[in-house]
Amino acid sequence: MAKIAIVTGASRGIGRVIAKRLAKDGFSVVVNYAGSESKAQEVVSEIVAEGGTAVALQADISKPEDVQNLFAATKKQYGQIDVVVNNAGIMELSPIAKGDLELFDKTIQTNLRGTFLVFSQAAQYIAEGGRIIAFSSSVLLKSFPTYGAYIAAKAGVEGLIHVLANELAGRNITVNGVAPGPTGTELFLNGKSEEDIARLRNLSPLQRLGEPQDISNVVSFLAGPDGGWVNSQILKVNGGFAY
Ligand code: NDP
Repeated sequence: MAKIAIVTGASRGIGRVIAKRLAKDGFSVVVNYAGSESKAQEVVSEIVAEGGTAVALQADISKPEDVQNLFAATKKQYGQIDVVVNNAGIMELSPIAKGDLELFDKTIQTNLRGTFLVFSQAAQYIAEGGRIIAFSSSVLLKSFPTYGAYIAAKAGVEGLIHVLANELAGRNITVNGVAPGPTGTELFLNGKSEEDIARLRNLSPLQRLGEPQDISNVVSFLAGPDGGWVNSQILKVNGGFAY
């Protein structure tokens, strides 16, 4: 029987490419989205057209009842859950001095509380031998101005990864984080000038932006047979950004 993977935020960007890669790897994939239903359905159609199995399920990861329903519906449809990739996230920027509490709360709700809620359900549902993968960011290495809320949330995510890995002792389940560097998606490109993008691109010795596929390659490794001895790690996938 095929293994089952849930990928949150799989309607666009990095999550979309992860969903398609895991389907190619042989997983039946739950393509989660918050609002982009037609895009999520498109991902499902593309997977099915390539001979894979997938279903789109809506859930806002910051809402406990949505996350509970996502896991319950997956279990009902496929019978078990083997891999959970919590990729969904937002990035809005504002200097701390501005005190934009709305932005701060929204960022923490989606990126940190969302990860906590997904981890909680994953810990309850995931099968023995399962893999849990969450998303941090390589921007933690830089502490750029205006990234306060985002970096605070992702630092919290890294803390949760190590605690959950310990809490799942004895069940042969790994919990790891992936921390991409600048990657060419809407989240990264929105609101940035050509100069901003060029400056960030050149912070990597490889002098290009990451592509979603650079990140999905590593998620595939962590989710697959070769990744089983990697546990409680944050893998920086960034072309050498920040060194
Ligand atoms: P995008 O903005 O391209 O895509 C975000 C995805 O997350 C969409 O599918 C969106 O769904 C979903 N999403 C957003 N909020 C929620 C929510 N509350 N519940 C469920 N789904 C939600 O982002 P990226 O692909 O660039 O980012 C993916 C991950 O990688 C994030 O965790 C991000 O922080 C991290 N990252 C990205 C970097 C980059 O440079 N791009 C660098 C470092 C880390 P919908 O379409 O329905 O809104």
